[in-house]
Amino acid sequence: MSFSDIYIYNTLSGKKERFEPINPGKVGLYVCGPTVYGDPHLGHARPAVCFDVVFRFLKYLGYQVRYVRNVTDVGHLENDADDGEDKIAKKARLEALEPMEVAKYYTDRYHQSMKALNTLNPSIEPLASGHIIEQIEMAKAILDQGLAYEVNGSVYFDVNKYNEDHNYGKLSGRKLEDLMEGSRSLTAQDEKRNAQDFALWKKAGPKHIMRWPSPWGEGFPGWHIECSAMSTKYLGEQFDIHGGGMDLKFPHHECEIAQAVGAGGKEPVNYWMHNNMITINGQKMGKSLGNFINLDAFFTGEHPLLEQAYDPMTVRFFMLQTHYRSVIDFSNHALQAAQKGLDKIMNAAALLGQLSSSAKTSKDEELAGNINTLQKKCIESLCDDFNTPQALARLFEMSSLINAFYNKQADVNSISNQVLKSLKEFYYVIVNDVFGLQAAQVESNDVLGDVVEILINLRKVARQNKNFALSDQIRDELKSRGVQLKDEKDGKTSWSLLS
Ligand code: ZN
Repeated sequence: MSFSDIYIYNTLSGKKERFEPINPGKVGLYVCGPTVYGDPHLGHARPAVCFDVVFRFLKYLGYQVRYVRNVTDVGHLENDADDGEDKIAKKARLEALEPMEVAKYYTDRYHQSMKALNTLNPSIEPLASGHIIEQIEMAKAILDQGLAYEVNGSVYFDVNKYNEDHNYGKLSGRKLEDLMEGSRSLTAQDEKRNAQDFALWKKAGPKHIMRWPSPWGEGFPGWHIECSAMSTKYLGEQFDIHGGGMDLKFPHHECEIAQAVGAGGKEPVNYWMHNNMITINGQKMGKSLGNFINLDAFFTGEHPLLEQAYDPMTVRFFMLQTHYRSVIDFSNHALQAAQKGLDKIMNAAALLGQLSSSAKTSKDEELAGNINTLQKKCIESLCDDFNTPQALARLFEMSSLINAFYNKQADVNSISNQVLKSLKEFYYVIVNDVFGLQAAQVESNDVLGDVVEILINLRKVARQNKNFALSDQIRDELKSRGVQLKDEKDGKTSWSLLS
């Protein structure tokens, strides 16, 4: 494998394929973004971090990447079905707000969390509500092809008709016959011809708040069509990579293919990438299971399942320790181990800056060769379907070597200053720019850390003297300035920055 060969596991073919962008040197990347009706949680963090590294690594290799990640601020109905209330409208109704107020509030919250996780902003972040015209145009095109039908102001995609000439189910490996057998039978009230048909446009009932005019009367777009309309607009009818969580494979992404092809277009996506799910202590995440942990709770430690606060970088690092196609299981134990791993990588980065070699040539050719091989293997791992855990293993080997140099167990002067320079450049670029890792905030801000420790100790003295008013005052004033104290079970007090 040469440096420039990337292999991507394509969900569509079920195997790793050599990556060949449509336009040499350029990559179009579309990732399904959040539906903004609630606080960002772990389920939001995984695709964001996974595709952030894809974005960063492709840029590192020299590609010009246009990364589009949408915001679903309209059209995502409850239960992913074509009936039920719009999730955002429901939240707005319950809280007596404008739907766009709800969407803006949670979009901001999402951005804050993404910033804490150090994900880069996408190149374009389109809103579904800002692309109603494009979605109407696409629905019209599908109607023109005879692959959709209008009933009572709503427009549905005709899956059966589409399946006559195309393969509905090719991405998720499902067969339409099986899907039909498994679905409930339609009643007289149903507008759809077939239970598998999905809405491109829905007529708005009298109470529906979010509504736009269309050739079929006032209504709102279906969820799936937003991604088709916006990816086509910003990346073209055919683009390179479409990403998202595995839970979106069906029906969302399957419908995206059907819509793009059904509008008279081509196969829209060359490489479909899906990140796997997250479990918590071996259990699926779910609101009813009480293990639904918001990202903010991780950063403050305020959740019954969390033993402590975790720095956003620890959460990021933890995700990158597992390959994106594998399930991640969150537990306190695993996060604490990740914290140690991150510290090791970041400490080595700090020590590396203090190393220097006076040698013009390497006396220890073998060691110099090993350093070179480690760098090569690290890149090869990332080229092999973005294998971050393997690449991290190489970084750990480098960090051991850096420690050995620093502790004088190995002689840094046995390698040339040129070899050391290449190690430094490589380590910093991969750790900071590709993995997007930063030292945990607590450690990177030494003066602040020292001052907070002094105040924690003063608070301890106050409590020993039973001066609880002062103890509370110290805690509250720190909190009002964004520093959260947490009293641990062992009697120690930890602290974190509120994001
Ligand atoms: Zn989508």
